[in-house]
Amino acid sequence: MPLTDAQHAEIAAQRDAAATTRRATVPALEALLFTAVPLLDHGFIRVIDYMGDDAAIVQAARVSYGRGTRRVSEDAGLIRYLMRHRHSTPFEMCEIKFHVKLPIFVARQWIRHRTANVNEYSARYSVLDREFYIPAPAQLAAQSDVNRQGRGAVLHGDEAAEVLALLRDDASRCYDHYAQMLNEDAQGAAVDPARQGLARELARMNLTLNTYTQWYWKTDLHNLLHFCALRADAHAQYEIRVYADAIIDVLKAWVPAAYQAFADYRLGAVTFSAQMVTVLRRMLAGEAVAQAGSGLSKREWAEMMGALGK
Ligand SMILES: Cc1cc2nc3c(=O)[nH]c(=O)nc-3n(C[C@H](O)[C@H](O)[C@H](O)COP(=O)(O)OP(=O)(O)OC[C@H]3O[C@@H](n4cnc5c(N)ncnc54)[C@H](O)[C@@H]3O)c2cc1C
Repeated sequence: MPLTDAQHAEIAAQRDAAATTRRATVPALEALLFTAVPLLDHGFIRVIDYMGDDAAIVQAARVSYGRGTRRVSEDAGLIRYLMRHRHSTPFEMCEIKFHVKLPIFVARQWIRHRTANVNEYSARYSVLDREFYIPAPAQLAAQSDVNRQGRGAVLHGDEAAEVLALLRDDASRCYDHYAQMLNEDAQGAAVDPARQGLARELARMNLTLNTYTQWYWKTDLHNLLHFCALRADAHAQYEIRVYADAIIDVLKAWVPAAYQAFADYRLGAVTFSAQMVTVLRRMLAGEAVAQAGSGLSKREWAEMMGALGK
């Protein structure tokens, strides 16, 4: 369900209101503030508030009395040094708060990131909307043959149609029963005055995991980068990855120097074990090393060769 006219109006009103401040602001992030970026079929992410910028990282690292910044290239160099050497606390000086709408099964993965502050829509207090995530056909895939935690080839034809129908029907039927048990209309009045209606905190247990929930989620830049490193990775499930990818777009606007350092030293970097480094040194010395004589398991060998593009 797209945002309602009333929700659009609330966002527009927030965007129209401007405040003067002595604190640092980032024009590129100000341009995005409050706007909902649509994700999946009913989800979104929007930035509600933030504190700090690239300069705040530098300022904290230098424990400066003023802004602490010097030439842009020097500041970027310091940020890259901090990222490279995992000197992480200066990145914790920046904070950001998102409003996220996401399917419950994605929320279960997301909530595992403990280093954040969360306030979720209360389904004890309010009735959840009739909104379910139904994957786009391209995301409807079979179990992977090689990865027990992943998906493989896309389903086609009758099987795909049948799966989509099951997902829709089950979610709809469970929601119908939820509404029936609640016995309340949109204004909260009893649909059937002869029935008491079940408490919202109990009726919700019948809902399917693809039902959408919402929360406000606040974290600092260090932990946000950790979240992105894990959830924008190819091993993460597609449905959480789209949110991490959208957060990465926010990072590019908010802290471009920190993002670039993160892209270079985390996202695009690889880690080699001590044994892998030994293998690499033998290869660089001209030796033809094979998996059998490498001291690496088949899986490690495949991972290393993958990282080397071999
Ligand atoms: C691809 C993928 C597959 C996964 N599969 C599973 C799975 O099958 N089952 C499952 O249960 N989970 C699974 N997870 C979740 C994963 O194990 C982590 O719980 C999740 O990624 C959060 O990571 P985190 O703990 O580093 O993050 P955060 O909770 O944000 O913590 C950040 C860092 O803070 C520190 N920290 C936080 N809390 C503590 C603490 N109590 N003690 C010590 N240090 C702490 C750690 O250094 C941690 O890395 C999976 C995650 C990914 C990305």
